[in-house]
Amino acid sequence: MRRVCERDDRVRRLVLRKADGKCEFKGCKPFNSKKGVPYLEAHHVIHLSASGKDKPSNVIALCANHHREAHYGENWEFLNEEFLRILKNIRP
Ligand SMILES: [Zn+2]
Ligand SMILES: [Zn+2]
Repeated sequence: MRRVCERDDRVRRLVLRKADGKCEFKGCKPFNSKKGVPYLEAHHVIHLSASGKDKPSNVIALCANHHREAHYGENWEFLNEEFLRILKNIRP
């Protein structure tokens, strides 16, 4: 994953803590990491290079599958629009 996806570590940790072990897109249960906690990744919905903010309102916790899909899937644009709608609801 590109490094731009993990800019501010505090934001990343805050978002992952709020996600409480679940993918915020579909509520998927990720596999456990070596530390025995659910493995989630923080995704910037609007890319920082496209003037997206490094704020929780622009960062969603995703399971590894959905994170890959958000970057490399054919529906990536649709997915990111969906993430923005979700974030408006969960972090108004
Ligand atoms: Zn990402
Ligand atoms: Zn997921």
